Amino acid sequence: MKLSRLGSRFTTDTGILQLMDDLGSALSGDERKYMLGGGNPALIPEMAAVWRREMRALLDRPDEFDRVIGQYDTPQGRPRFLKAVSDMLNREFGWGISERNVAVTNGSQTAFFMALNLFSGPADDGTTRKIVFPLMPEYIGYADQPADTRAFVGTRPKIEQINEHTHKYHIDFDALEIPDDASAICVSRPTNPSGNVLTNDEIARLDEIARRHQIPLVVDNAYGTPFPDVIFVDADPTWNENTILTMSLSKIGLPSTRTGIVIAREEIIRALSAMNAILSLANGTVGQALTERLFESGEILRLSKNVVQPYYRRKAHAARESVRRHFGEGDGARFPYSVHRCEGSLFLWIWFKDLPGTTMQLYDRLKTRDVVVVPGRYFFFGDNPGRDGDGGASDGGTGLEPWEHRDRCIRVNYAMAEEDVDHGISVIADEVTNMWRNA
Ligand code: PLP
Repeated sequence: MKLSRLGSRFTTDTGILQLMDDLGSALSGDERKYMLGGGNPALIPEMAAVWRREMRALLDRPDEFDRVIGQYDTPQGRPRFLKAVSDMLNREFGWGISERNVAVTNGSQTAFFMALNLFSGPADDGTTRKIVFPLMPEYIGYADQPADTRAFVGTRPKIEQINEHTHKYHIDFDALEIPDDASAICVSRPTNPSGNVLTNDEIARLDEIARRHQIPLVVDNAYGTPFPDVIFVDADPTWNENTILTMSLSKIGLPSTRTGIVIAREEIIRALSAMNAILSLANGTVGQALTERLFESGEILRLSKNVVQPYYRRKAHAARESVRRHFGEGDGARFPYSVHRCEGSLFLWIWFKDLPGTTMQLYDRLKTRDVVVVPGRYFFFGDNPGRDGDGGASDGGTGLEPWEHRDRCIRVNYAMAEEDVDHGISVIADEVTNMWRNA
């Protein structure tokens, strides 16, 4: 193939592509597999019943149904849905927004592809615009999205060791540098992979820094409040004209409808809608049509608070208990480890301190025992000011090196069946023990 630079950029063998291929082949055999690797949400029976109810109600309105599947939406989204979302956010938080502050995209992943490329890469003034990620590790899905690999800057966190087996990341504001060519700051809250939730104070400080540099603050709310509300600590959602807030219907149970929602000032919504028209013409309408009545009535908030959040809270607790049981604690611990305090999202982020080997090696061992997790290194990307590094892609390149922390962590999805998560964690305990024994 005679590829363009952009073509090469999106088709090179990145680490994440290799990993996804690995996951695919790991899943292709006959043996039972314990998939604690991907980002799939759980199938929650009460939520499945709601989607079936809303689909039946839609089918009972044949004219509406025909329009939903038979017509393109506007590139910004379905007008009734945009209004339902802005009305709900105004009722809930008093943000004073209108439909013109809301855009729908084909999944929030696509919203990020658009936003990250809108703000990063070569600019007319000769600079290469950069996106700053103030707290690594961050969502693997951003890593390979920019057309220009020099586009990302990542910063290591401060690590608060809460007790022997629990830690929490904080933004290291002393180390946080916003280069002159920065064009946005981006965080996920709750954070995939660590389950960290940036505090209200951290968000307020980032907001202030972003305004001072006249660049937007992008907050990825895929797991956040008020929906799906997979968040176990108090955290206020915030928005202002300088914030780009992204939301998603995936983690409340509709990943296959590919519905992302962006709340931003009108100029940014117009830019995203223009890009959407080029990339997709319009968005899938089914997710919007299935949920707009829930936004209008506020039921989406009640379901998030009373069904989705308690469901994941229980599962997070069960997963943490499995770790306690299989890894041991204190003097009875089988090896050194620390789990990030699980404040939200679907993941346990486990740090194997001083592991004699890397979590890439651990990942290979686990694969032979049909347990699939994600090794930590893919969640550390971006050039790091003041350090060696070409940054950008999640290809295990030199971004954030030489920090050994990124090769000592794994991400475990706890949304799967409890007995599978428990079995997976017991196998992880065995294999980490074996690595120590062979050291
Ligand atoms: N942001 C975060 C933090 C995620 O974890 C995910 C998916 O796992 C996404 C964005 C993209 O989600 P979707 O495209 O399904 O809306």
